[in-house]
Parts: sequence; C-alpha cells; structure tokens
Amino acid sequence: MKPLEIETFLCRSDNFGVLLHDPVSGATASIDAPEEKAIVEAAKRRGWTLTHIFTTHHHHDHVDANLALKEQFGCTILGPHGEAVAIPGLDKSVMDGDEFEFAGRTVKVIETPGHTAGHVCYYIAEDGLLFAADTLFAMGCGRLFERPAADMWHSFQKLMALPDDTEVYFGHEYTISNARFALTVDPDNPVLRARSGEVSALRNAGKFTIPTTIGLEKQTNPYMRVANASIRQHLGMTDASDEDVFAEIRTRKDNF
Ligand code: ZN
Ligand code: FE
Repeated sequence: MKPLEIETFLCRSDNFGVLLHDPVSGATASIDAPEEKAIVEAAKRRGWTLTHIFTTHHHHDHVDANLALKEQFGCTILGPHGEAVAIPGLDKSVMDGDEFEFAGRTVKVIETPGHTAGHVCYYIAEDGLLFAADTLFAMGCGRLFERPAADMWHSFQKLMALPDDTEVYFGHEYTISNARFALTVDPDNPVLRARSGEVSALRNAGKFTIPTTIGLEKQTNPYMRVANASIRQHLGMTDASDEDVFAEIRTRKDNF
C-alpha cells in the first residue's frame, strides 16, 4: 500500500479544495466540491481522474460543483444522511460510525453536528487523515448555524479523541483571524503565540496553513482548551462547565 497523495488548492475566495489520490488504484476523491474550475484544473495538473466526492455538509460553497463534476467524471457522491435532500447528485448517504472502502482503506464517518445539523467528517485511520471541513479549523471552530454550542462541543470531543498525529484538512483559510481571536482568550499560551507568528509568516509568503494536526489543535485551539485554568480565569468562568466555556468562546468569536 502506497501512501495517499493529497493536493490542496484554493477555491472561490477562501474555500480549500482537497483531492485525495491513491497512486496504486488511481482512485481520486474530492473532499466537497466548492468550485468546478479549480477542481478540474487541480486534477488535470496532477493527471488524476475524479472517482468520488466526499460531501461533508449541504452548504452551497461545499456542493456547488457536485453535478458538473459528476457529469464530467461520472464520480460517486457520498454525503451525510441527515442532509441527503440538500446534496445534489448524492449516490450514497452515510451516517455516524459508518465505514466504507476507498482505495483499499477504511474510511470512517464521524458525525459532527454544530455548523450544520448533519455535518460529517471523514477519517482514515490507516493514513492518519481527517477531513473536517467546517467543523474544526486551524485554531477555530465552525459557526453554529443549525445546532447549539453543546452539540458542537460534543462533536469536538469526538475529534479530540483521535490520535494526536492525525493530519486535519479543514474547509476554509480562516487561520489568521482565528489566531488573532484565540490570543484574546488564551493570551498567555506560548505555543499559541509562536504558532500565530508562524501562520502569519506563511500567509505573508502566499502559502496556506493547511493541514493542522489534532495534537497541535489541542495545544492552540481555544475551543479544545476549555478546561484550561488560565483561559477560564481570563473569562471569569473558573467553575463553569466545559460546555459553558465552549459556548462563551464561540459567542465571543461571533462578536469579534
Ligand atoms: Zn459551511
Ligand atoms: Fe464552508
């Protein structure tokens, strides 16, 4: 088994396109389908033919190119059961805990309600890869459109249980703004301060900040650090529940 190859590129204004390719079988999956042109160009650049789309949620900036890509490549579209009616061209719906085969690997479906009610992440344990779209960003968390903070906190805990070295591919390049906000609730965190400098340097050099890892997020993502004493003190929530601290941080970001 050869390692999967991954191509990341920008779609629309700040969406990430992510292509996942198996050099042995030729199978190629696009994580979501934000933009036809950018995805087709990326596939051509690498000489890959799209066989699958793994849809994470129904938002238009994640499903816009589903039908066009399906028409062009005849690819199979998988997506969350709970949002099946809102996902164009869906062939197979998947639910929490489902496992399916891709390129000789097992892909596990992890339901992460919060950003949308049916949002799913795709996890490939063999390769240590997580595709988290709009649930987990570098130092951030998706906006809560369809479910309350308590649900998102529960979703976050599922992702925090994955191995620290899991590489996380996320849906948007929001990293600079996330870092700036994270420093307002976790200003005394030296790892966060160092990372904030690193991501600024990357962006200034025209580079992206994808991927991250679960381990790095546990050290720098304020939504994963709700138990941290210094964050709690900073928020005046020393004795609050983890869930309430999570909700407070999310609310502050909405107003940031
Ligand atoms: Zn979204
Ligand atoms: Fe999005």
